[in-house]
Amino acid sequence: MSSWLLTVLGSSSSFPPGSESTAALHLTGKKDSILIDAGGNIPRLLADCGFDYRQLTEVLISHSHPDHTYGLPFLTHCFYHGGKKMICRAPEDTIVRLKKNLAAFDLEDEVKYLDFVFEPLPVDRPIKFKVDNSLQIQTVPTSHSRPGVGFLFSGPAQNILYTSDTAQNEVLLGLEEKLDVLMIDCQATEAYRRYFEDSHCSALEVGKIAAKLEVGSVVPFHYNTTEFPVERAELTAEIRKNYEGTIIFPARGMGFEL
Ligand SMILES: [Zn+2]
Repeated sequence: MSSWLLTVLGSSSSFPPGSESTAALHLTGKKDSILIDAGGNIPRLLADCGFDYRQLTEVLISHSHPDHTYGLPFLTHCFYHGGKKMICRAPEDTIVRLKKNLAAFDLEDEVKYLDFVFEPLPVDRPIKFKVDNSLQIQTVPTSHSRPGVGFLFSGPAQNILYTSDTAQNEVLLGLEEKLDVLMIDCQATEAYRRYFEDSHCSALEVGKIAAKLEVGSVVPFHYNTTEFPVERAELTAEIRKNYEGTIIFPARGMGFEL
């Protein structure tokens, strides 16, 4: 059994239905506890999934939009018992905005709160880095209304790509890595694509991408059933026009071994 587990904390777009939450994932290893995107009340979401925010060792942020970042000042404020060094990797323009957000809440005191070590991620080319020598993370540049990246996690057991917010693009379609799981932006059905064609994928595109990349399972993320009146069954039917593999709708606490 692999020692890496990727857990869904939240997977919705900005207006989550019911008790769902916006984009956040957690990656846990033998020593590492990594937050990927920070939508929502992160300490609460982690606790709901059996994790302790005080154990976090690193944060990865895909892009600066609020539904992926607004939990970061809140998380920082929860560390009021004392500073802790924490790496935060994000695109350069995201780092600028994150710093401004922390300053707006008067949370820059690294002795009192979190001592962030910001490491910029390029958005014009992929880079690779390793965590604990057994997990490789590769950035995958996105096509979105803000500069951003997705993250490809390659562990001993599986390859999982979390695209974050992105329209269909050549980088995505040209990926050569064999993907076991594709967690992909799936905003709504093709009928609504004109409203988001430069920044998100439709379910029809998701099916085509999944088929082209021959992925084992598709996990539709960020679907917007509040703004667009689309049922999950309709998203499934549209993905199925091109893709025959497994479709898994995400839920809080769902874990994927890496
Ligand atoms: Zn976004």
